[in-house]
Amino acid sequence: MKIARVKGTRDLLPADTLRFGAAEEAARRVFGSYGYGEIRTPELESTDLFTRSVGEATDIVHKEMYTFTDRGGRSLTLRPENTAGVVRAVVENRLDQGPMPLRLWYAGPQFRYERPQKGRYREFRQIGAELFGAPGPAADAEVLVMLFDFLEALGFRGLSVSLNAVPAGEGREAFSAALRAYAGGHAERLGEDDRRRLAENPLRLFDSKDPATAAILEGAPRAIDHLDAESRRHHAAVMELLRAAGIPFVEDPKLVRGLDYYTKTVFEVTSSNLGAQDAILGGGRYDGLVADLGGPPLPAVGFAIGEDRLVDVMPLAAAPAAGRVRVIPLAPDQEGYALSVARRLRRDAPVECDLSGRGVKKGLAAAAELGFDEAAIVGPDEARDGTVTMKNLKTREQKTVALAEIAR
Ligand code: AMP
Repeated sequence: MKIARVKGTRDLLPADTLRFGAAEEAARRVFGSYGYGEIRTPELESTDLFTRSVGEATDIVHKEMYTFTDRGGRSLTLRPENTAGVVRAVVENRLDQGPMPLRLWYAGPQFRYERPQKGRYREFRQIGAELFGAPGPAADAEVLVMLFDFLEALGFRGLSVSLNAVPAGEGREAFSAALRAYAGGHAERLGEDDRRRLAENPLRLFDSKDPATAAILEGAPRAIDHLDAESRRHHAAVMELLRAAGIPFVEDPKLVRGLDYYTKTVFEVTSSNLGAQDAILGGGRYDGLVADLGGPPLPAVGFAIGEDRLVDVMPLAAAPAAGRVRVIPLAPDQEGYALSVARRLRRDAPVECDLSGRGVKKGLAAAAELGFDEAAIVGPDEARDGTVTMKNLKTREQKTVALAEIAR
């Protein structure tokens, strides 16, 4: 009986991991050049971490978490996102007491019990970054500029940011009340899920994928009209800085993002190569979250990129290391010498040994078919003399050389 992989998960094969690796290398290089250090937090966290940060009424917490009780009776959850874990780690490791701003990036798997479809999985990966301790609009702008540098390093051009700002505190309550009053007037046209959203947290109506709800929300009160004066100034300054930096953006009054912790700036970047509603990344400012999770009042801004979608559409071609050599022993007697030849040649290029025992003729045909550039043939003469016969598989030229000469 064959055992299949778990629904919504996938195996990343070498052709895939080459692309994932290229994206992660670019993240390390670009984010590193902005002063970001890498953080890796556990994939398992206490369930409370997510109910208190992402929010009880969000789709993620309400119906998408992989939550279970472990053998010690603790309620644990496979992380559905990484910001909450990073914030927990910052507070727990007292990084909040250190020099500011604090810049951290991560890459890793996340888990959500969603209906699997193209670009949407139950285990997926995110690359993200978080900037702590910088309250001003320049921090939001720097994060977006870095994001564009990263996306351009992967070959993306012509991308645009959707930008909005959401109120915190009293403004959020007023916005919520205004939305409830407005949507309450259309309650009979809302589906069951959206009626729950209306009752529990009306902001979450904006996460709805129901076209009827989207139509109702066309005339809804706007988040941006409920910002306090300081948040409005902040938002205006972010847009000014983005214009100055040449980052294209469009204001989207309906963008609120599906997590409860955002304050002020929220943004998404969509790619036209994906379906209409599919963002490759989202982010924003979350000035209240560190304190909500038991830390000091520490402002923060960050983003999470869906790595699976990113590598699906990224223009960068991730090529395997070039200049590959196949070492082919003539007979089993020369296999020991072939291993030492391969080891020497590896100082210059990636080298594989043909361990099939099929001899030189079939070995050469296989090497050419697999796209190797050169074959290193070793027979009894080569083994005795400490030489190797190098054959160029494209030009068919060959010559016997002393091993000591070709790899120093
Ligand atoms: P979020 O953490 O919900 O703000 O999502 C950030 C990004 O992660 C999205 O823009 C998607 O690209 C990606 N993402 C979220 N959920 C999934 C999923 N189930 N499968 C693949 N990518 C996802």
